[in-house]
Amino acid sequence: MYDLVTTISYKKNMISNYHTHCALCDGKMMPEDYVLSAIKKGFASIGFTSHAPVLFETSWTMKPENLPIYIRIVNNLKEEYKNDIQIYTGLETDFYPGCKDYRNYPKIDYTIGAIHFIYDEKNKKFMALDGSVDEFIETLDITFNGDIRSLVETYYNLLGEMVVTHTPNILAHLDVIKKNNMNNRFFNESDLWYRKKVEELLYIIKENKVIVEVNTGGISRGYTTDVYPSSWILKLMKQLDIPLVLNSDAHHPDWIDTYYNNALDIIKNAGYTHERILYNGQWQDVPL
Ligand SMILES: [Zn+2]
Ligand SMILES: [Zn+2]
Repeated sequence: MYDLVTTISYKKNMISNYHTHCALCDGKMMPEDYVLSAIKKGFASIGFTSHAPVLFETSWTMKPENLPIYIRIVNNLKEEYKNDIQIYTGLETDFYPGCKDYRNYPKIDYTIGAIHFIYDEKNKKFMALDGSVDEFIETLDITFNGDIRSLVETYYNLLGEMVVTHTPNILAHLDVIKKNNMNNRFFNESDLWYRKKVEELLYIIKENKVIVEVNTGGISRGYTTDVYPSSWILKLMKQLDIPLVLNSDAHHPDWIDTYYNNALDIIKNAGYTHERILYNGQWQDVPL
């Protein structure tokens, strides 16, 4: 893991992506295909973050036996393409009762912490939070008796708990809970209770020095028309001086920079001039 943060005055925009899936989890194509795409698009660096294995069977996380293979493949690519691009080995990790802590796993450079599901103690079942709309409704009805505020607040509480107890380098798609909320179908982001909950989380993030990603993945996969997090949250983050990184959450080599130009406008509009990336083995602030 790399801890040191420095600011070096690079002259140009260092296009990069630190949130990349591949065929070893729920992405398409192998890591090398993403590296070749990144080189072609002039990227300075790319970080792989397959979904780390979880303690139960899923269709989207890496199988435990594939973890050493994944690390070996990415590490070999680091060496093979070292003259063309910097490559880092990360994991997108889930936080739930009894989850494995991958932060100091050998040869893992960094982690992106996420909440994709929640454990329903009453029914002894894991329930999806960022799945399809039908899955979302199932979680809302079965686990939360239809109480959307309780569901959303539980999501943000879990993020806060993860940031404190399993502090990742980067927080994944902060408000992914809005994924199925097109046209305010379930809740309204401008409601005071929602804003207060987000704000409460931002203070915890600030305190624990976590980087928040601006994630364009919901757009490339057709789920949303907006980045995570929403621009009003980005403006609050800027006020608190929380570092951010622009990521595509790519599941296909062609999507490693999807919506980047628009996202850059949104980020700059929130007042940001720099993003924090892992470069030359250090977390550094580079110009956008
Ligand atoms: Zn995710
Ligand atoms: Zn992801």
